[in-house]
Amino acid sequence: MALSFSLEGKVALVTGGSQGIGESIANALGAAGAHVVVAARSEDKAAAVAQAITSSGGRAEALRLDVTVPASVSAAFKAIVEKHGKLDILVNNAGITDDGLILRMSKESWDKVLATDLTGVFLCAQEAAKVMLKKRVPGRIVNITSVVGLMGNPGQTNYAAAKAGVIGFTKALAREIGSRGITVNAVAPGYIETSMTDALSEDQRKALVGQIVLGRLGTAADVAGAVVYLASDAAAYVTGTCLNVSGGLYIGSS
Ligand code: NDP
Repeated sequence: MALSFSLEGKVALVTGGSQGIGESIANALGAAGAHVVVAARSEDKAAAVAQAITSSGGRAEALRLDVTVPASVSAAFKAIVEKHGKLDILVNNAGITDDGLILRMSKESWDKVLATDLTGVFLCAQEAAKVMLKKRVPGRIVNITSVVGLMGNPGQTNYAAAKAGVIGFTKALAREIGSRGITVNAVAPGYIETSMTDALSEDQRKALVGQIVLGRLGTAADVAGAVVYLASDAAAYVTGTCLNVSGGLYIGSS
C-alpha cells in the first residue's frame, strides 16, 4: 500500500491557529488538503490566517474560541459539526507562558497557565472525542506539548507541569479510545524561532544553539511537519507517543 500524507476530505481544528506555530500548522494541514478551522480568541487574526490558506487554493475558515471557557469550547465544536457534519483532526496548540521563579510565582500565574495549557487540552479533546466516536471517524488528536515538559526549565514550573500533564493525558486518552480507531499523540517542540526568540541577544542565541545537536533553532514549519505526519494515514499505527521536535536539545525517553 502506498504511504499517504494527504488530508483530502478531512476537517481539522487548530486551536491557537492565529499566529506562530499554530499558524504554520494550519497552513501545512491546508496544503495537505484538509479543510482547516483556525481558532483563537482573536477572530480577526484567525480570519487572516484562514484567508491566506484560501488565497493559496486551500479550504479554511476562522472561529472564535477560548479554550479555558467550557461554553466557548462546546459552542465551537457544535458549530463545526453543524457545518461539516464531523471533525477528523484536532490539534491542541493554544498555549501561554507566564514565567517566574517558584518563590515569586503567584497562584494566579499558576492557575492561568494550567487553565490554558492543560485544562484547555482536556476540554477540547473531550469534545473532539465525543464527535469522533459518534461519527465513527478514524480521528486524530495531536497535542502540542514542549520539551520543557520532558526536561524541565527554571522559571517555568507552571508551564512544565502543564506540558508534562499533557503528555500523561495523551497516553491515557490514547489507551481509552484507541480501540475505536482514534489516535492520540503529542508533539514536543524545542526552541522554535518566534517573536520571543527574535528578542534574544547574539550571545544568548549562541549559548542556546550550543545546546542543540542540530546546531540551529527550530522553525514553526519543523513542528508543522510532525503534526501533518501524525494527522495522516501514514501514522495510522502510531498512538500514545510524544514526538520530540527539538533538534536533539533533549534526547531521552518520552
Ligand atoms: P504564540 O503565543 O505565538 O501563539 C499562541 C496562540 O494560542 C495564539 O494563536 C493565541 O491566540 C492562542 N491562544 C492563547 N490563549 C488561548 C485561549 N485561551 N484560547 C484559544 N486560543 C488561545 O505561541 P507559539 O506559537 O509560540 O506556541 C504554540 C504552542 O507551541 C503552545 O502550546 C506552546 O506552549 C508550544 N511551544 C512553543 C515553543 C516555542 O518555542 N515557541 C516551544 C515549545 C512548545 P489568541 O491570543 O488570539 O487567543
